[in-house]
Amino acid sequence: MTSLWLSLTLGAVAALADYAGGVLLVRRSPSARALRYFVALGAGFMLAAAVLEMVPEGLALSPRWAPLLVLVGYCGVHLLEHTLVPHFHFGEETHHHEFLSARTSYSVLLGLAAHTFFDGIAIGSGFAISHWLGWIIFVAVFLHKLPEGFTVASVMLAGGRSRSAALNSAMFLGATTLAGVLLINLQPSWVRAGLPLSAGVTIYVAATDLVPEVNREPGIRMALVFFAGVVVFFLLKLLSPF
Ligand SMILES: [Zn+2]
Ligand SMILES: [Zn+2]
Repeated sequence: MTSLWLSLTLGAVAALADYAGGVLLVRRSPSARALRYFVALGAGFMLAAAVLEMVPEGLALSPRWAPLLVLVGYCGVHLLEHTLVPHFHFGEETHHHEFLSARTSYSVLLGLAAHTFFDGIAIGSGFAISHWLGWIIFVAVFLHKLPEGFTVASVMLAGGRSRSAALNSAMFLGATTLAGVLLINLQPSWVRAGLPLSAGVTIYVAATDLVPEVNREPGIRMALVFFAGVVVFFLLKLLSPF
């Protein structure tokens, strides 16, 4: 399979995982409890992939601008998820009093959509460089997609929106992910900016969005799952055929 079709197929798989996360929330599925393992495992894996693969590859592509672009990616997500939006965190939205207006939930959706667009840019950029990088970034993105769709659906319900609005918003995040993959495939030269930018976004999502949710859990089990995510990265690197 060519990189183009592989990246689009895996982008579609990641997009479906957003939707599946929304379905878990709307159906009040008991298996949603397992999502916290994805959050912890995903955080460790994403951090390792961003620091050890995405940042060095980004530096190789644009030695001069990559460090600044990583910082811009990090700060950009903070701006969109936490400054323009009055309240956002991963996991189920339980602070209903802060969601008196539906507008709040739509601003959360738009903030998250910018991040999911860069999930797609990351997958597309990875495959523009090598199959190994593309696969590693896909795994990093996939691991946090279920919790991401779950989160946005719960924000919609907490904002008083309907169940179908909740599902549509999860689908919208999937669509923006796919749009990011498509954009890099249409404009492959943008990978020079896209990879370091999405490295910054990935570091943000791992260390600033997901790790606080891991730390919220009592006991050390979740912290250990986070480290397991880092270990899984090294195992994949060892076993990789690329
Ligand atoms: Zn909340
Ligand atoms: Zn994401």
